[in-house]
Amino acid sequence: GSTPPTQLNSPPGPRRVCVVGAGLVGALAAIYLAQRGWQVEVYDTRPDLRDPETATQAKNSQRSINLALSVRGLSALRATGLGLEEQVMQLAIPMRGRMIHDRWGRQTGQAYGVFGQCINSVDRAALTVELVNAAEQFENVNFHFDHTLRSCNLDDRQAVFLDRTTGSEVVVETDWIVGADGAYSVCRRQLMRKTRVDYSQVYIKHGYCELTLPPIVTASGKPQYAMDPHHLHIWPRHTFMMIALPNPDCSFTCTLFMPFEKFGELTTREELLAFFDCYFPDAVPLIGVDRLVTDYFRNPKGSLMSLKCHPYHYEDRLVIVGDAAHSMVPFYGQGMNCGFEDVEILFSILDQHGVTAIRTPGEKGTTDTRLQNALACYTETRHPDAVAICDLAMYNYIEMRSSVVSWRYLIRKKLEDQ
Ligand code: FAD
Repeated sequence: GSTPPTQLNSPPGPRRVCVVGAGLVGALAAIYLAQRGWQVEVYDTRPDLRDPETATQAKNSQRSINLALSVRGLSALRATGLGLEEQVMQLAIPMRGRMIHDRWGRQTGQAYGVFGQCINSVDRAALTVELVNAAEQFENVNFHFDHTLRSCNLDDRQAVFLDRTTGSEVVVETDWIVGADGAYSVCRRQLMRKTRVDYSQVYIKHGYCELTLPPIVTASGKPQYAMDPHHLHIWPRHTFMMIALPNPDCSFTCTLFMPFEKFGELTTREELLAFFDCYFPDAVPLIGVDRLVTDYFRNPKGSLMSLKCHPYHYEDRLVIVGDAAHSMVPFYGQGMNCGFEDVEILFSILDQHGVTAIRTPGEKGTTDTRLQNALACYTETRHPDAVAICDLAMYNYIEMRSSVVSWRYLIRKKLEDQ
């Protein structure tokens, strides 16, 4: 059965915004909205990551355990003025450069910059929890987990969710919707029903599989990193590659990127070990043969896509941000960073346009032209940059697995360093 629509606060209370997706970008957007006085209702199809059982399930599902957080993302955290950058950096491990592993196990460092620039390895779940906790500090934010968006009735300013715990439909009235529901966004699909959206989506032929490289346990029982934790480790092998990012518990998460056909060819323990002994010989003893075999055959093989669309908004009723608007291949390490930047830019534009959460009495149902103009300005400002980052990520797909070891690249790097 369906419950009656949740009523809007009666005027002159704050206006209501519905954020779909309590992932990295949705949680950050909730903070920005709360700071501007909106009544924020955040819905996510997943259970709450802070529940210990859910956290274990999330870990066991082994999808992109950690991510590289860069200056672009840090800037958006800083702009909240809540000290989020410092809090998150306490969870992070700075990586000052790449460490290239050749087929003979030799390692060569390539610094990211001459002024000590780095990117930072952070645990995806820990970062999400940090942002959800920060959002929940605001009285005007409520999280509703286990709620799946089914559709939006944009004409009537309603969003329809399935409450996964009760099986019932929940109709939510809202002034507008921020869609941060990821690459397979339902919000984006609803946008496409209402307006002329240009849309393109490409799957690359590579997929990915995550493997754990555990800590070394010393005689005193203290865990230690098996490789330098302040580098992003890369085993570039031209048509495929493996990378590894450090975790705070002294393990690394390795990600093997390979064409799906190749994954399909490695079907037995013997085939897998022969392949690793040939291409990643130094990683085998560090991961451990049994763990390698278990992880490889147990963990999912994820697909990777690049997705672009335009516009990102519909009137003053809906805007999409993060992967919902521009999913990219992960080789530039910028998907989340770009999503965080979306939030920073969106709110600087809303502020410039004088958009406010205060409802003027009698205003209900009418169009907020300031919000509408601000969202249009956001689409036009953000779209070229988002497309450029998607393209750069695709370029780095070749750079990381191949160009970093080409002679031309190494000579150019050498000249740049002089
Ligand atoms: P998501 O993280 O996908 O979150 C979407 C949320 O919406 C989820 O919580 C989901 O449960 C919820 N949701 C979905 N549908 C619904 C619905 N119908 N109703 C309600 N809720 C819904 N980026 C980086 O910046 N650096 C990196 O190093 C990096 N490495 C990566 C490595 C890999 C292997 C991959 C695959 C990606 C990587 N990325 C990286 C990209 C990054 O993961 C994404 O860009 C980022 O997660 C996008 O955040 P988001 O909040 O927009 O979407």
